[in-house]
Amino acid sequence: SGIKAALALLDADRPLVLRPSALRPEWSSVPTVLALGMSDVMAQSLMQRVDSDMVTGMYCDFIQSFASLVNAIDPDDFTVARDQRDGKSVPSMLARYEELTGLPFPQDRVRQVALAITSLSALWHDDAARLLRQAHGAPSDAGIALILQQMAVPAPRSQLPIYRSTWSWDDEGVLHHHISSRHGSYRSHENELVDGAVCRETLANWHRTLLHEEAESYDIDFLVREGDALLLDARLPSRSIAEEIQLALKLVKEGICTEDDALLRIEPERLTGLLHATARSTGGEMILARGIGASPGAAVGQIAFTPAIAHAMAVKGSKCILFRIETGPEDVRAMHVANGVVTGRGGMTSHAAVVARTLGVPCVAGAMNLSLDQENRLLFIKDGPCLHEGDIVTVDGTNGTILNGEVPLTKPVTGGSFDRFLGWTDAFCDIDVRANADSRDEALHAMEYGASGIGLCRTEHMFYAKGRLSVMHKMIFAPTDSHRSGVLNDLLEMQRSDFLDLFRCLKGAPICIRLFDPPLHEFLPGDEDELCEVARSLDIARERIVNRIEELREFNPMLGLRGVRLGIIAPEIYSMQARAIFEAQALAANDGIAVDPEIMIPLVSAHREVGIVRSLVEAVAEEVRRQSGLPLHYKLGVMVETPRAALRAGDLATETAFLSFGTNDLTQLTYGISRDDASRIIDEYIRNDVFPLDPFATLDREGVGELLTIACRRSRAANPAIVLSICGEHSADPATIQYCREQGFSHISCSPFNVPIARLAAAQCAIRHASPSDSA
Ligand code: PEP
Ligand code: MG
Repeated sequence: SGIKAALALLDADRPLVLRPSALRPEWSSVPTVLALGMSDVMAQSLMQRVDSDMVTGMYCDFIQSFASLVNAIDPDDFTVARDQRDGKSVPSMLARYEELTGLPFPQDRVRQVALAITSLSALWHDDAARLLRQAHGAPSDAGIALILQQMAVPAPRSQLPIYRSTWSWDDEGVLHHHISSRHGSYRSHENELVDGAVCRETLANWHRTLLHEEAESYDIDFLVREGDALLLDARLPSRSIAEEIQLALKLVKEGICTEDDALLRIEPERLTGLLHATARSTGGEMILARGIGASPGAAVGQIAFTPAIAHAMAVKGSKCILFRIETGPEDVRAMHVANGVVTGRGGMTSHAAVVARTLGVPCVAGAMNLSLDQENRLLFIKDGPCLHEGDIVTVDGTNGTILNGEVPLTKPVTGGSFDRFLGWTDAFCDIDVRANADSRDEALHAMEYGASGIGLCRTEHMFYAKGRLSVMHKMIFAPTDSHRSGVLNDLLEMQRSDFLDLFRCLKGAPICIRLFDPPLHEFLPGDEDELCEVARSLDIARERIVNRIEELREFNPMLGLRGVRLGIIAPEIYSMQARAIFEAQALAANDGIAVDPEIMIPLVSAHREVGIVRSLVEAVAEEVRRQSGLPLHYKLGVMVETPRAALRAGDLATETAFLSFGTNDLTQLTYGISRDDASRIIDEYIRNDVFPLDPFATLDREGVGELLTIACRRSRAANPAIVLSICGEHSADPATIQYCREQGFSHISCSPFNVPIARLAAAQCAIRHASPSDSA
């Protein structure tokens, strides 16, 4: 009855078009059905008005395509029937249809439409179609609209060429109009059209009308008959993200839509295409390996197997891609100079992923079908070639592939239009976007992208800088307490100057400094060569080093002596850090920069841990206050990243000013899946529908989210003034941002390069919340 009602609105004696329309054109592999409704009666009626050969051709095409769509009959099975001449091909086509299907060709247009809709819908739900659109980013529940229209007759079947009229923008935002044709050369047709001045004006009017009525820029298919342009179809083109932004700016400039509507037009993750280089792959390149796209962007470079080789290549001005099984502190400096990073193990929150995202270096983590032979400098690809150090590869950290050879790259494009577009978010964002940054460069990047401050400064990353690792070694291997306190003084100076640098660069914007978190084993020499090197540089016997390593050995270091536990068992490290923060605060105050540092304790699980660290930090603050004569205010907070901390958030909130959810560790500990080895499990689980998404990338609302909800409720009940935020790698994920906004978090904190994505996602949540019906 729905179909009947729809058809009642359309002329009974004109054929129809049934056109699929997916949210994004590249998602649809479903064909358009032309000349639907053709029957003997309609053919007779059309022949009164238009050329009868054309009508015959259209009817025959329809029978053939209908049989293929609805009855799954190979169109070639009609070849003989179609070859019948002298106007008899329709009867022979109808007879052939009946012969092939055992049924007469349906003459009733309601029935034809119903059958066509059922068939298109089946095609949409077909497994291959689903996989294809999911490869283009469609969600698993993506739907399709089927649009039923009256068809212009003569149909596009006529011999006249079909043109496509397109508007596009160049990088400077200048609008260009193109006319192209699928028939013959574009130039000759364009000349013919322009010389005849046939339709430029008509086309411009159509484009303008569609732009104003639909707030969209369509590609228009048309044909020209006797000097007149006939509109056949208007379809949404696939636009680059740069073009989407230009269109949004134009719509607002022309008053066609408001800034909030314009912001809703763009999926936040698509901004990645402007923030980072993109590989312009043709699809023909050899994919050497796939892994998790752990840090977006693409890079070309020579394979380097060790940090030393990466440095040597960089010094020579060569671009390099660092290949490691997994990364650790000893790799971080090389990650600064490398153009891309690949690891054989790891996931979205492994060391390589976190560091690469903070630096903005493309990274593929957990690329499992490759193995490294460090000794012979060879890279083996399962069922593929063997590559040597120095060979050129392209890393695409956006989609997680490593390609053989050099693939051309597009450059990142920010500033100008990008900034103007993002600037609109400020009026709508009602949750602050901070950045996870721990160096001056990262902080500057973050501020440039509009971060409101630093939400997580991982202080241990400061020890990865040039010359610092050896000082850490000195501290870890110090033979006596007095040696250790000497080394801690060196570290104090370094940290003080790091913090002062950050305070100056932030100019009073908020900063949350997390006290030392990782297990000390992360700073230990990784192999025999490094061990000997450390022994030599520290002038300590190799055996002493080996013994100390043995003392520090743990079966599960990530569940061992790290975070607040290290702060309590080896308090001199936290004392040194607290002093560095307060002394830098005093120095900044002398420069006229008022800083109110937020000091965060990691990996807390018990209330008493906070009390102990609070006393330690306050004692240092008091001493520096005395020395400097300054009041030196600060806030103390806890990183909620163990399930127990979430459950006991009520206790924790009584002693603290803020809680920040470290969802990387919280996800790891809630699932009991190692974040450094996650990729193998997660890949398989997603493939087998065990998990819908990677919980290390999108917050698991059901489990981890429930812990967060409990923690929010209990902490607010205990301390209504408590400030809540999130700083795990989930922070830039739009769905997670929506969740955080719903929970009333004060801010989220993500890697600097994700700040624009998070700002757009946060603005969209606020806009949708303000007018929910618009977003339905
Ligand atoms: C976390 O665990 O969510 C977090 C932000 O800290 P890190 O990644 O440094 O462990
Ligand atoms: Mg953590």
